[in-house]
Amino acid sequence: AKAAGRNTSRLFDPKTQAAVTLRADLEAALRTALEEEQFVLYLQPQISEDVRVTGAEALIRWQHPTRGLVMPGEFIAVAEDCGMIVPIGNWVLNTACKQLALWASQPAFAHMTIAVNVSAKQFHQHDFVEQVLDALSRHGAHASGLKIEITESMLIANVDDVIVRMEELQHHGVGFAMDDFGTGYSSLTYLKRLPLDVLKIDQSFVRDVLVDSNDAAIANMIVALANSMGLSVIAEGVETVEQMQHLARHGCHAYQGYLFSKPVPVERFEASLADFLKP
Ligand code: C2E
Ligand code: CA
Ligand code: CA
Ligand code: CA
Repeated sequence: AKAAGRNTSRLFDPKTQAAVTLRADLEAALRTALEEEQFVLYLQPQISEDVRVTGAEALIRWQHPTRGLVMPGEFIAVAEDCGMIVPIGNWVLNTACKQLALWASQPAFAHMTIAVNVSAKQFHQHDFVEQVLDALSRHGAHASGLKIEITESMLIANVDDVIVRMEELQHHGVGFAMDDFGTGYSSLTYLKRLPLDVLKIDQSFVRDVLVDSNDAAIANMIVALANSMGLSVIAEGVETVEQMQHLARHGCHAYQGYLFSKPVPVERFEASLADFLKP
């Protein structure tokens, strides 16, 4: 590297090289994770105003053989960059549909919905609609149990195409939520054109809703907007009763957050619900 001129030295920068190697390792490890079924779907309950569990958001975890439980913040961005998010996202869809089908025959769970996070790259695959419908029919899941969480970032590209896909899936009974609403490139023009069922208030607005009047104003505005457009609204990241009460006073009807439960494995989700339902 010593002989390299100023212009080329970056190529041999040991730090860059280490980062490239790490990334390549992570890509390879993600491939192995899929093959060896190291991914796990955690569920976080979604709660109605009368404190009933109406469904869950599916959140992926990676149970690594030596590194333990790896959170999505550590691998989703790289998976998006290298394209692995597509097969990983399909695994999430299929696992959620399998769960919906298993629950269909259990009265306590038959009406539960599962919300799945879909990344922009996955949504923009030419066969995305087909992949969703395949996952539903392969497992015999009812489409009305499946909710897809989209983000504003997928509207940067071709909005008309996004709308066509959403309408096609909606026609089959699949519902849509706008995740992290208000944190991205939101445009109210898109909002009225997208066939959405739910707006999710991002946890960044919920966290300080009691102490920051700007956050409160935004949260209240989102609730009012959803209500007057005939959409449901779910507040995320609700950690205290006071936050919930504030949001309820302003017309919010559904919640998700550590106040009720952290995301947990399916068996724990089912067990805690069974406890919940005991007289
Ligand atoms: P998100 O979709 O906004 O999910 C909500 C995140 O907030 C989750 O983090 C959840 O565990 C966390 N959370 C829930 N309640 C509370 C609370 O009361 N307080 C606080 N501080 N946090 C709370 P998680 O599971 O680490 O997921 C992070 C992000 O990774 C997700 O944000 C989503 O963007 C992405 N992600 C997770 N699973 C998937 C997936 O299957 N596919 C894709 N494409 N992305 C996923
Ligand atoms: Ca989400
Ligand atoms: Ca969110
Ligand atoms: Ca988020």
